[in-house]
Amino acid sequence: MTVIDVILPFAVEGSFTYRLPESCEYCPQSGQRVLVPLGKKKIVTGIVESVRESGENEDTNVYREAVRFPEDFPIVTSQQMRLWKWMASYYMCTLGEVMRAALPATLRVDKGLKPRKKSESVVETRLAHPLNEEQLRAKNEIENAWNKTPTVLLFGVTSSGKTEVYIHLAQEQIRQGGKVLYLVPEIALTTQLTDRLRSVFGERLGVYHSRFTDREREEIYKNVLSGHKYDVVIGVRSSLFLPFRNLGLVIVDEEHDTSYKQQDPAPRYHARTTAQMLASLFGAKTLLGTATPAVETYYNALNGKYGLVEMKQRYAGLKLPAIHLLDLQRAYKQKKMEGHFSLPLVVRIQEQLDAGKQVLLFQNRRGYNSYIECPECGYIPKCINCDISLTEHKPVAPDMPSRLVCHYCGYSIPAPAVCPECGKGVPVDRGFGTEKIEEEAQQLFPDARVARMDTDTTHGKDAHEKLIRRFADHEIDILVGTQMITKGLHFKDVSLVAILKADAMLNLPDFRAYERGYQILEQVSGRAGRAGTEGHVILQTSDVENPLFAYLKQHNYEAMYAEQVEQRKAFRYPPFYRLIGLTMRHREQSRLETASRTLQDRLKHVFGARCSAVIVPAVGRVQNLYIRQLTLKIEATASYAKAKEMLAREIEYVKTLPPCKGTLMTLDVDPM
Ligand code: ADP
Ligand code: ZN
Repeated sequence: MTVIDVILPFAVEGSFTYRLPESCEYCPQSGQRVLVPLGKKKIVTGIVESVRESGENEDTNVYREAVRFPEDFPIVTSQQMRLWKWMASYYMCTLGEVMRAALPATLRVDKGLKPRKKSESVVETRLAHPLNEEQLRAKNEIENAWNKTPTVLLFGVTSSGKTEVYIHLAQEQIRQGGKVLYLVPEIALTTQLTDRLRSVFGERLGVYHSRFTDREREEIYKNVLSGHKYDVVIGVRSSLFLPFRNLGLVIVDEEHDTSYKQQDPAPRYHARTTAQMLASLFGAKTLLGTATPAVETYYNALNGKYGLVEMKQRYAGLKLPAIHLLDLQRAYKQKKMEGHFSLPLVVRIQEQLDAGKQVLLFQNRRGYNSYIECPECGYIPKCINCDISLTEHKPVAPDMPSRLVCHYCGYSIPAPAVCPECGKGVPVDRGFGTEKIEEEAQQLFPDARVARMDTDTTHGKDAHEKLIRRFADHEIDILVGTQMITKGLHFKDVSLVAILKADAMLNLPDFRAYERGYQILEQVSGRAGRAGTEGHVILQTSDVENPLFAYLKQHNYEAMYAEQVEQRKAFRYPPFYRLIGLTMRHREQSRLETASRTLQDRLKHVFGARCSAVIVPAVGRVQNLYIRQLTLKIEATASYAKAKEMLAREIEYVKTLPPCKGTLMTLDVDPM
């Protein structure tokens, strides 16, 4: 009897097998949608994984009958199916979880899809900018390198004109009949970039935004499935799930960016890794581009796993920005501070404003103050659901009180006028965020137009775009922002970038903190002096001796890398070891202790020193769930697949133990 194994969009293991509907007159194919009964009353939409003859000893009587097939053609291609399977296995999740991430929600409900008619493809060949000598050399080198390795790193300094090289490579690919996927980090998908690509590829460009509605996603999904609407799709990491045909090239722009890693929910995939797998399924090429490669990427490039092509010059002979350090400790001692601004910085900002230039102020934290504290009793207001202090946010209207907000769960209360603990002290600000900097900047430079860009000011659909446009049109003189202002933006009048407290992000307990600090600072610096005038960067720090700043001043990524790679080796981190993070959550602390200890003991037995001790993370409770973590470190030379298999077995076993019941476990392969 012919039966079908069906993927259903749930996190449950195992396959769901069904019989064909009685009325079905044809044999369905893998990748088709199918409606199947589940439980007592439910009908759910699944994807046919395989169509097969039942085995001799298989009892087909237990299988229920599928209801019907909404279409008579697959909406998931064979390459997608292979990619899904690879993801589920590599990232240790179920096919159902991959399906849920991969298909627009509207395709997961019952509603027939019509096959797209072949629209006459109007080939619009518009002109890209001609490449300069260095860009041409880079393009040729990339193409040659692809003859040896399918993945090449384009390591080009900020404003070297990488985008133009991508455009030329994409055009070449299209001429050969291949399609192009152009991946960008979350927030970098701005009109600045899409306008540029639109002017070259016209209607043949598809855009896949994370802020799109399900309907818009479905539209693009269908267009890509049809195979003849787009030549180039630009999109965020989830565009890897589109049903490509004839994919010839995948570009991963700003490959170091952390938004390429999906944190939650599963599949917790990295777009850089997944892009290479996707490309390999098509025999396509991958190009990774950045001014500040991830340590792992540069390591792979130096070791011949990837090709390496460099561009060391900015386009049109511009100089890289000059970086100046400003000693905060000394400035505080000499009382040369206005709020969080040192006096020399105030002077430099004023100079730029007087000259009609624009200034970017970078502060890694959003909010007004990072926390408030009672000077009398030391009380710090904390979230009731999470183990974290609340952050003060200024009032929306002047006559309203400011609020204290939890950045983890959104819990908020009005800021207390007097300390609720001792009733005496007036809570004061400790630390500082973008809101505070914005306020100080407006006071220091009353004539300047000051604005702020962070996740709080960019909630609305177009808020981010509008801010960028206003700044690009010079309707804003000073823009205060978080990391958001570092991503691939191009403003011609920015002559000065200031970093208010550069050491703040280097002291995080994360083995990537140093590398990330360098990347963010180099990228934010790269926003300065992108046209005509020379750019300057002022870096305020209490840690002037930190070697990282010396590397930054020289734009010496290689020196930073050399230092980091030694550390990674010494402390057993990637690329020498691979990490798997295991997070356990439970409402009851004591149960969690038992479960995490039990798992730790079993894993230690199997993996020895490769398994860490149970740790309580920096924020040990979120939304009323206590959290514990374990990390496995597997030698890069060992079999990753085997290690995962052993890990999965132990987890399954521990889950069955009565005292461990109810513990939520999530796995993060290659965590970031
Ligand atoms: P990167 O991505 O390397 O930071 P961009 O691609 O944004 O740099 O290029 C920086 C600036 O130089 C942009 O304004 C871009 O339009 C301009 N540019 C780069 N290459 C060319 C070219 N070949 N012709 C004209 N303008 C170019
Ligand atoms: Zn909270």
